[in-house]
Amino acid sequence: MRFATRAVHVGNEPDDATGAVAPPIYLASTYAQAGVGKTKGYEYSRTQNPTRERLERAVASLEGAKYGLAFSSGMAAISTVTGLLKKGDNVVICNDVYGGTHRLFNKVLRNYGITFSTADATDEVRFNTELKNERTKMVWFESPTNPLMLVLDIRRVARAARDYDLISVIDNTFASPYLQQPLRLGATIVVHSTTKYISGHSDLIGGALATSDRTLYQRLKFLQNAVGAVPSPFDCYLTLRGIRTLPLRMEQHSKNALAVARLLQNSRKVRAVYYPFLRASPYYRQARRQMKMGGGMLSFRLRRGFRSAQKFLRALRVFSVAESLGGVESLADHPARMTHASLPDEERKALGITDDLIRLSVGIEDKADLTEDIRNALAAVS
Ligand SMILES: *Cc1c(COP(=O)(O)O)cnc(C)c1O
Repeated sequence: MRFATRAVHVGNEPDDATGAVAPPIYLASTYAQAGVGKTKGYEYSRTQNPTRERLERAVASLEGAKYGLAFSSGMAAISTVTGLLKKGDNVVICNDVYGGTHRLFNKVLRNYGITFSTADATDEVRFNTELKNERTKMVWFESPTNPLMLVLDIRRVARAARDYDLISVIDNTFASPYLQQPLRLGATIVVHSTTKYISGHSDLIGGALATSDRTLYQRLKFLQNAVGAVPSPFDCYLTLRGIRTLPLRMEQHSKNALAVARLLQNSRKVRAVYYPFLRASPYYRQARRQMKMGGGMLSFRLRRGFRSAQKFLRALRVFSVAESLGGVESLADHPARMTHASLPDEERKALGITDDLIRLSVGIEDKADLTEDIRNALAAVS
């Protein structure tokens, strides 16, 4: 079956007992046993839950993976993956990664003797030096990155990791599996904040991972139960409900974002636009090779810094000023003062996250209303 059919049907099969087309939500924490140890495959809902299993099958199917696991947040999925590491291990983190991921490595895992080094994956010589380090066990990357929409060559990063016998983990939250399926390009594990595009309606916090490596899956499933950061059955249901429209939403997000990016590109008040599906983007060719469309995320710089940014954000009517992304509604973020405010000043500057930068999560509203909103907000900038 093709992607859109799988998005509707996998994990959404009619209920065995009643034929209900919308499957029931199993809220039970525990399951009656016919005799001691005589179960129907379910003992306790941290370990197994039928609603969660539906979601896990759906996520695996979307990523073209053999196995999927669901978690209570993106960070819960990410920290469960880091449970594969032990004291003395090093992780190579490529380019920019989600702030919460950086914080987990820097402020939590460091206390357990797990180190990380950062490397620019586009600088092949330095990147290989980091991978060669015998303590390195894992490579962690994102593409496109947040907030500057850098596109890494997924196939090349995954292959380099494989050459050194390392686990490669890609956070595929920004693209969603509709736009790219990194396991098919050689990555070992894909993680998601399902809070974003996969559930798609800004009404839950969730995470997931997918892999086709059986041994790793068994270790991760053990960790899921041992660590215990599992999602509620209701959130699993909502996520499944969102997945059914993922293809439609991603098409609309991508069309709207491209229109907004083109509009910004043509404004004299805008200094730079970061959207990989703009022909002028340095990542255009790489993005076209590995992504189906450009997705809903973009960022741009206004001339004259923070004052302009403030005026622009205040003038928006359809876009809400808010953190997070990936929902049906359009959001605008000021990374330096909002999502990335916790980074030390120096580091933020080094990443290019300055006061003139605005990040947009372009929703699925009518394209004309979104471009009109942006045009009006630009007009408010002197
Ligand atoms: C939001 C996000 C996360 C964290 O997910 P939560 O669901 O908020 O825990 C991780 N990675 C990326 C790229 C994100 O955007």
